[in-house]
This record gives sequence, C-alpha cells and structure tokens, in this order.
Amino acid sequence: MLNFNVDKLQKNKERVDEFANIVISSANVFERYEMELFFKGLSKAHINALEKEIIRLLEIDRVLASSVRDGVNLRPYEVQDTEFYQKWTNLVDYQSFLREEVIDLLIRMHKLILAISESCVFKNTKSLIGEEASILHLVSTNNHSNAHIKKLADDSYMYSCQFHYDRRPSMRVNNRGNNLVCYACGTKLDAVGYIMEVEKIDRYHALSLLAKIYNIESANNPYTEDDELVKKYTSNYALRKYKRRLEDGKNVAMSKRKTFNNYLAIETYTKRFNTLDRMKKGEKLVASNKDKQKRLVLEMPEFDIDKENRLQM
Ligand SMILES: [Zn+2]
Repeated sequence: MLNFNVDKLQKNKERVDEFANIVISSANVFERYEMELFFKGLSKAHINALEKEIIRLLEIDRVLASSVRDGVNLRPYEVQDTEFYQKWTNLVDYQSFLREEVIDLLIRMHKLILAISESCVFKNTKSLIGEEASILHLVSTNNHSNAHIKKLADDSYMYSCQFHYDRRPSMRVNNRGNNLVCYACGTKLDAVGYIMEVEKIDRYHALSLLAKIYNIESANNPYTEDDELVKKYTSNYALRKYKRRLEDGKNVAMSKRKTFNNYLAIETYTKRFNTLDRMKKGEKLVASNKDKQKRLVLEMPEFDIDKENRLQM
C-alpha cells in the first residue's frame, strides 16, 4: 500500500514539475510582451495570444487547486515522522506555492490585456455602448421591490423576472457577463436587447437611448437629456439605487476567497463605478476613429498586488 503511494507521489511530483515549466514559459511570454508594449505597442493578435496563455493557466490552476485539496485531506497522519510524510507535505506546499504564482501571473496578464485594449484597439460607438451600458443598472431602475432581489455569486443578482409572472426571483442578472437569463421562461438578453424589450423600441433607438444615458457621443441622436426615457435611467434616484447594488456586489466579491474569477468580478465592479462617476460628472465619451488611434509607447501598467490578501488557503 505504502509503495503504491510512493509511486503515486512521484508521478504527482513529475506532473507539478511539468506545470512549473509551463508557468515559467508563460511568464517569459508575458515579460517579453510587457517590454514590447513599453517600446513598440502591441496589437489585437497579442491579446489573442495572451488569452490562450490565460486559458492554459486557468486549467493548471484548476488541477492544482483540487490536487492541494486532496493532498491536505488525504495526508497520511499515521505515518508522520517518516520521510514519506515529509515528501508528501513538501509536495502539497510546492503545489500551493505554484498556484499562488499562477494566480499572480493570471492577474498580471489580464492587466496587460486591459492596457493593450485601452491603447491599441479601435473602438467604434457601438462597441463603446456595449462596454459602458450596464444591465444591472437598467434592471435595477425598472425593479420596484427590493424584496425580490437576492445576491447570488461574486458577480450576479437574482431578480424577479420582468418577462413573466414570477413569484420567486428566477432571473439571473450577471454584472460581469453584462447579461441576464431567466431560468423559468428562458429569456436571455444583453443590455441592448433588454432596452428593446422593455421600452418596445427598435435596435437603432435602443443604441441611441443607451448612448444618451451613458453620455457617449453619437451622431444624430433622436433623444435629448429631457426625454422621459433618458430621465428615468439617469435620475438621482435610479443612480443611487444602482450604486447601492454595485457596493453590495463589490463587498460580497471582496469577502470571497481570492481566485482569478473573483479578481475579474471585482475589476468589473470597479469599471462600473468609474462609468457611474463619469456620468455624474457629465463627462462625455467619444469613440476613437482610426486617425486618432493612440498606439505605440504608453506607460508601463502598475501592478499592485497585495500578497497578504491574495490567497487564503
Ligand atoms: Zn422569466
């Protein structure tokens, strides 16, 4: 029995070594891109390559997390003080350590992707509206009973569905995915689709309305600040309600154990807060056209990762 375990331990050790090599090669790709971003700027193709690395690292993180869990749960206490036990413990530590490195690298890669997107990718008005419009804001404006809301995970709320008679909340509003799904009637919508359904307007008017609500420059917009529809979503009352939802959501996400997904949930709340601030200050966003496209040298992104709070194993 013990021999079998020793074999298994050896195999596990080899697998973790293999993972470590992948993490090192990912870190090399990351560092090269980081330098190139600084000197030359990076393109959409680099974002795709980074995203591939992220998927690979997420898979490693998943395997390591379950391996650490098993390692701790199945630790053979009956053979304490033996070399085998020591090796076992070392391996669990090694895996936890590697997992911390993986999460660290994932966060840095994601920040690099954000920095590249900000600086290099051409954004038209439509994609800007898609990014700035918040389904959570739109739904909370139309929801009049707080009794029918429930905080679900890091990034979601359950609301009473507005598209069928719903006595219990069955509509999941996902802040990070910026969409909603009703588990009872099957409705699935993004922000533009939601506005079309609720306000009974066509796509062109929905995009124009959202541009007005989120203060994004758009040509020949049929809406003005004084339209009832615009006022409904930008009233102090609506924005205060939405801000409370964001604060609740961010607090829950901050209290959770740190994972990469949790980090992404928090990032999204931060982004939504920024949009809200911008709306309150009345700052207008203008889609960049190709001539104005900012490329090349930009400031190195700052990485302020709080090592203490990052991973509580
Ligand atoms: Zn429904």
